[in-house]
Amino acid sequence: MSDINDLRNKMDEVTLKMIELLKTRTDIAKEIGEVKKNIGKGVTDEAREDSLRGKVISLCEDIGLNETIATKFLNFLLNESIKVQSTNKQTHLSVFLKAKSLEEQGKKIIHMEVGEPDFLPPKIVKNALEEVFDKGFLKYGQAKGMPAFREALAKYVSKTFNVNINHENIIVSPGARFSIFTAITTLLNPGDEMIVIEPAWPAYKDCALNSGIKVRTINTTFEDKWEPSLDQIKKTINSNTKMIVLNYPNNPTGKILDEKLQDSIIELARKNDLYVLSDEIYSQYAKTNWKSILSYNYEKSIVTQSFSKSHAMTGFRIGYGIADSKIIEKMAKLQALCLTNVSEPIQYIAMKALEEDISDNTNTVQNRLDVLAQKASEMGLEFVIPDGAMYLFARINQQGFDGVQFANSTLEKGLAVAPGEGFGDYKNFIRLSACQDEKVLIEGMNILSNVMSENQ
Ligand code: PMP
Repeated sequence: MSDINDLRNKMDEVTLKMIELLKTRTDIAKEIGEVKKNIGKGVTDEAREDSLRGKVISLCEDIGLNETIATKFLNFLLNESIKVQSTNKQTHLSVFLKAKSLEEQGKKIIHMEVGEPDFLPPKIVKNALEEVFDKGFLKYGQAKGMPAFREALAKYVSKTFNVNINHENIIVSPGARFSIFTAITTLLNPGDEMIVIEPAWPAYKDCALNSGIKVRTINTTFEDKWEPSLDQIKKTINSNTKMIVLNYPNNPTGKILDEKLQDSIIELARKNDLYVLSDEIYSQYAKTNWKSILSYNYEKSIVTQSFSKSHAMTGFRIGYGIADSKIIEKMAKLQALCLTNVSEPIQYIAMKALEEDISDNTNTVQNRLDVLAQKASEMGLEFVIPDGAMYLFARINQQGFDGVQFANSTLEKGLAVAPGEGFGDYKNFIRLSACQDEKVLIEGMNILSNVMSENQ
């Protein structure tokens, strides 16, 4: 008996020591955070993390400790450092909220920061809004979505992407955002790793951090035309890696992966048993050859789709996830816990919207993107011509350019743009969205041009 008490006392002692060390580590992380802020450095430093990871692994070899457990523990520590160092970063969303409050004060703002088409949802949506009350879609429903809607979505997806999907593979969610959240949160565990290719929509990273999952970033560059390196992805995968996130056509760059590279990434995922979360909400706006991840028939893929961009229904908050039925079941459990079910009237309206031809939206967005690109190159902005989506991710080649300061200056002049650093370590970039009428876009670009020359 006394033996076990001795051991327990020792265990307590070690645990308390670890807590004290955690306090010391957190204080140092805070200090480093201050220094990084002062020198304008981003929070995450992959090279530093890699070097520490290497040291931990070699220590594990020396002392005979399981490396997977040790690196999971390291991931917890690294995420804690990220949390204490993260200051309120300006993203497209914070600029949008600032712009909205300026509008409330009566200021006119051109919105080129947000990915929200200015055109209306399909006409059929208006009728559906009126008819849904009489149809009686007014009660609680199933967590995965209305059976008729899931059936309709399965047909739509099968036809649009030339695949074979049935209703069991569909979960209806309030926007693609929520399917992304439930997929990351339910499929991965704290300490697991998820690969994100940057620049990227920030929510993937934020969802992971929220769930104690370590994000490993693959930084792509303007010089490489935003092409990720397969080799780099390979090198990043270890026994804790559980998911890779893809988003093509990409927000913010408009990039579409070369088919061979995409094939190789999926093959790599298969070999390493990784989930592939493919956010395909801009598929309607692909300008060049694009292939859905669904076409690989990979049982660990999760595809997210939305009515927000394709049907201009951002405010309806409706999207869906497509995956193996076992994955859908897991996601549905969390969804039931969080919201019971997606509002049935909204599901009914979206189901009706599926009947409408939306090819005009594609033409509108593509023309606008062309106009925006033309104007941007006349102004000397540097960008890779987008293969799709609704954005230009442009570099402004000015000494000491800071996207956040720049976004604040243009906002004062009535133009909202998204600072590049909301999408990763891209301080001298801004994202411009082509979601306004061509005349408005030109007006916005003229404001941009004025602010650029004032800054010179
Ligand atoms: N994924 C990407 C890449 C996005 O850009 C956005 C919205 N800007 C979303 C998901 C969220 O879409 P939803 O409105 O369907 O939640």
